[in-house]
Amino acid sequence: MIDIQIIPILKDNYAYLLQSPCGKVAVLDPGEADPIIEILSAQGLHPDFILNTHYHWDHTDGNAALKRKYGAQIIAPEKEAALIKGIDIAVTEGDIFTFGTENAQIIETHGHTRGGVCFYFEDSTTIFTGDTLFSLGCGRLEGTAQDMFEGFQKIMALPDETLIYCGHEYTRGNAGFCLSQDRDNEDLKKRIEQIKTLRADGQPTIPTTLALEKKTNIFMQAKSAKEFAALRLKKDNF
Ligand code: ZN
Ligand code: FE
Repeated sequence: MIDIQIIPILKDNYAYLLQSPCGKVAVLDPGEADPIIEILSAQGLHPDFILNTHYHWDHTDGNAALKRKYGAQIIAPEKEAALIKGIDIAVTEGDIFTFGTENAQIIETHGHTRGGVCFYFEDSTTIFTGDTLFSLGCGRLEGTAQDMFEGFQKIMALPDETLIYCGHEYTRGNAGFCLSQDRDNEDLKKRIEQIKTLRADGQPTIPTTLALEKKTNIFMQAKSAKEFAALRLKKDNF
């Protein structure tokens, strides 16, 4: 199992610190470097890898400083190689990123951006979804709703117990939209109470699980790209 620490950065982003059982270290989506360097220093850790789910600045702006300081290799989506500086290993659908004794499968999920990826650590039943799938939501579209829908279908094909780590703490706001579309969903209502308690304590609502998302995330109810697009549009205007 990989060890995962959640690092809150910027306004509402999450970067992640990953450690493999054999001591490899990776930082995923460092939108800024300073708070991450602080945590690495406090724990005496030196990252071997920087992983990016997509090119947006709030997921990549810390890349350069971390690479410079630690000599870490940048692993990022091949389809966004022109948009991310200093990539060492460009990854695409079906590639395997070897993280010590653990492997991450690269799953391309377009829609939020046109070339983004998720990192799926099969042995840890864990996926990092960036801004594709959020807890109770989905990212905004630079690509098409069709792309986003297809990305969701790939994620939904993973085991139900899969742990989902996403790029932002948007759960509470997302919950309001889900409820507006799904008023009688008791699982959702129960979850909203848990979310309120967590946030009142300053705790992250991450990770969520695929099983829970299937029951409560309205975007997972969409049966077609058309339905998905209609929901995304409603959310944009919510
Ligand atoms: Zn983004
Ligand atoms: Fe983002």
